[in-house]
Amino acid sequence: MHDTLEQSRVQQRARLLDWLGGQQQAMQDLLHRIVDIDSGSRDEAGILAVAQALRERLEAAGVAVRFEDVPGYGVLLHADVPGPGEGAPIYLMGHMDTVFPAGTVARRPFRVEEGRAYGPGVADMKSGLVLNVFVAEAFARCGGLGAPLKLFFSCDEEIGSPATRQTIMDTVRGARAVFNAEPGRVSGNLVTSRKGSMAVEFEVQGVAAHAGINHAAGASALEAMARKLLALHALTDPATGTTTNVGVLQGGIVPNMVAPHAKAELDVRYTAQTDPDALMERIRAIVEEESVPRTQGRVTAVRRTLPMAPTPDALLQLYRRGAQSLGFDVQGEFTGGAADSGLTASVGVPTLCATGPVGGHPHTEREYCELATFVPRAQAVALAIFDHP
Ligand SMILES: [Zn+2]
Repeated sequence: MHDTLEQSRVQQRARLLDWLGGQQQAMQDLLHRIVDIDSGSRDEAGILAVAQALRERLEAAGVAVRFEDVPGYGVLLHADVPGPGEGAPIYLMGHMDTVFPAGTVARRPFRVEEGRAYGPGVADMKSGLVLNVFVAEAFARCGGLGAPLKLFFSCDEEIGSPATRQTIMDTVRGARAVFNAEPGRVSGNLVTSRKGSMAVEFEVQGVAAHAGINHAAGASALEAMARKLLALHALTDPATGTTTNVGVLQGGIVPNMVAPHAKAELDVRYTAQTDPDALMERIRAIVEEESVPRTQGRVTAVRRTLPMAPTPDALLQLYRRGAQSLGFDVQGEFTGGAADSGLTASVGVPTLCATGPVGGHPHTEREYCELATFVPRAQAVALAIFDHP
C-alpha cells in the first residue's frame, strides 16, 4: 500500500514537471500578450485588461477566478485551484501594475532578442504573473496538491500598496506559505528579507525679507532646511541598516529674498529589527525643531512599506531541494527594495520572494526577462508546493 502511494507521488511529480516542461512557448505567448497592455499603477482599464487575459487562461484550465474591485486602482484577482479544500492554503502572489505610464507599450512593445524578452513590466512582474498562472494550471491539470492553492494578484504595489495593504494582510493571514513572484535576482537568487521604507514629505515655513535692505528681519526656510537635511542624513547607520536620503528639495523664490518656504521629500529604509515608530519620532523631531529662529517645520505626508522579516530557513531549503533536483541552485538574498512580501511576512506567514523568472534592470527601459529561466523556475515553485509539508 505504502509503495503504491509512493509510486503515485513519483508519477504525479513527473507529470507536473513534464507538463510545465512543455509550456515554454505558451508562457512566452501569454507574457507577450500582457506586456503589450499598459497597466501602470492607477490605470484601472489596463489592470482590468491584464486580469482578464490571465482569467481566460486560468478558467480554461478549470481554475475559478474572482475579481475584487479596487476603485481608482483596478481590481484584485483571486483564484482557487481545484483540489483539497482542507487546511491552510498556499498563496502564489504578484502585482499587475507597473511603473510605466500609458503610451509606453506603443513606444516599446514586447520584443525578444537573444533569449531575453523586453517591454514595460516584462520582469517586474508580468513574467512572474505568467509563471504563477502556469504553476496553478499545472496543478489544476495534473493534480498533486497537498494543500489548498490560491492565487492573489494585486494592483497598486508599485506605489506602496495604499489601497490594498490591509486586504493583502487579511487575505493571507494564517496561510501556510506565500510565494511572491517578483523577478529572480540576476544571480538567480531569491529574496529572503527586505528593508521597510518610509517616504516622508515635509515643509519649512520661514519669514520673507529683502536680502539687501532688511536681512535681519528674515528667517530663511532654506537655511533651516539645509540644517534639517544634514540632521536627517546623519540618521543613516550602516550598523543597523537604516538609510536616509533627501532626494527632492525645493524652496526659495529669488536670490535677493530670504526664502520664506522650502519643502523636501525624504526616503528612509530600515530592517525588520528597527522600530519604525521610534525612527519616525526622531525624524519628526528634526523636522519640527526650530532649526533657525522663527522658522517652523512640519511633516505633510508619510507613506510606509513594511520590512520583510527573514524567510524561515525551512521554506528556502524546501525550494532549494526542488531546484537542485532540477539542476540549479539558489541562495536567499537581502535587499533594500520594498515589496508586498513585507506585508505577508509581517502577519507571520512564511514568505519567499523573487520566485519569478530571472530579470534585470527593473523600472528602466532596459528591463529584461531571461526567458530560459521560465520553465525551470516554474517547476521549482511547483515542487516547493508539491513537497510542502
Ligand atoms: Zn515588483
